[in-house]
Amino acid sequence: MPEMHPDSQHIIEENREFTMFSWSVQNQANPIHMTGGKGSHFFDGSGNAWLDMASQLVSINVGHQHPKILQAIKDQVDTMCFAGPGFATDVRAELGRKLSEVTGLAKSFFTLGGSEANENAMKMARLYTGRPKIITRYRSYHGATMGSMTASGDPRRWPVEPGVPGIVRVFDPYMYRPPLGMTAEQWEEGCISHIEEVIQMEGPHTIAAIMVEGITGSNGVLVPPDSYYPRLRALCDKYSILLITDEVMSGFGRTGTWLATQHYGIKPDIVTCAKGLTSGYMPLGAVIVNDKIADYFETHFLAGGLTYSGHPVSLAAAIANIKVYEEENIFEHVRELGVHLGQRLEAMKRKFACVGDVRYIGLFSVLELVKDKATKEPLAPFNGTSPEMGKLAAHLKSKHIYAMLRFNWAFVCPPLVITKEELDHGLDMYEEALALVD
Ligand code: PLP
Repeated sequence: MPEMHPDSQHIIEENREFTMFSWSVQNQANPIHMTGGKGSHFFDGSGNAWLDMASQLVSINVGHQHPKILQAIKDQVDTMCFAGPGFATDVRAELGRKLSEVTGLAKSFFTLGGSEANENAMKMARLYTGRPKIITRYRSYHGATMGSMTASGDPRRWPVEPGVPGIVRVFDPYMYRPPLGMTAEQWEEGCISHIEEVIQMEGPHTIAAIMVEGITGSNGVLVPPDSYYPRLRALCDKYSILLITDEVMSGFGRTGTWLATQHYGIKPDIVTCAKGLTSGYMPLGAVIVNDKIADYFETHFLAGGLTYSGHPVSLAAAIANIKVYEEENIFEHVRELGVHLGQRLEAMKRKFACVGDVRYIGLFSVLELVKDKATKEPLAPFNGTSPEMGKLAAHLKSKHIYAMLRFNWAFVCPPLVITKEELDHGLDMYEEALALVD
């Protein structure tokens, strides 16, 4: 039996009416009773305003209740609430064109979210190449459906193993903790040559694709060295393997660009996205493919069909959301504020013995917490928690700061519209919390 979260008993007492008749993984995380929101804050049932330093699982990029998106959703509901996936619609045409423009890819297939997008990306890669295997990385999360869960290296896959066949995993560009006893310098070279060795052992003709997160998110914001993506792209080209980047968390402004890989000057063959595509206002994911794959599926069966593919209300929300990004210069704001965030995180690393490493790009960042900087012993074990992390969480909660904490990582991923003052307040509260466990 999996262990109960220590908070569970408390939830049963305090929030019983909200958790009795419906299921959510959040039941184990002591859910806050959320009643509304505005900008970077959301409100709870007792009238408290919480600063959302996690953007609702790194989704609500334009902030809570943006009036332009609400209006677009209402307008679409008034015009046409639903059209089956076999129909052409104005919104599907418009969003498809826009996604091609911002990604430089050719064509989109719409899904309900990130997991489904990754399922379809893997399926398309297998159909297009005729090869059965997909390489993914250990420190990755690609979703909670059977295939995308198996593709994930994250421990969340363990209870559903063996999952779907054909997934081969490799190590990550985790420069703070290189595997195989290597130094960071050795691993910068090794992280790609190791993948090449795996490809050779597996048989290049059996590998359809390598699928990686644009920037690894929930496994610790692993910003790769600058050389990583150009070398990975070259490796894929060498063996005619497709490069799939999962930009579900890292895409759509989180790092200050449409796609995280745009920082590294490479183009993937397939991109998956969700979350920031609509800022979470409506469920939507997309698989965006290059021209060769698009052409292939003009004449070959895509082997699937989702009733809600291209749901008009979701597409209308995405179109309005993208307009907000552009009209309000949000990515520029992310790039500017990201510099300030980086400076503050570096200062925390200097100030606190428990901050072992900080990683950041745009408004996508994490503090990696340790018991000892020299040994790098984590403040909580991999796939576990600790009294220190509990203390940190309790302090932030007491200050109505909503933060994403996992293992020994404290993430800072606020809405992209957060002001400097709001961000500074949030970070001040992280500092107060760190002081308690330092
Ligand atoms: N891929 C990544 C990188 C994610 O972070 C997530 C969700 O957190 C997913 C895929 C799954 O997306 P969804 O929850 O929309 O199915």
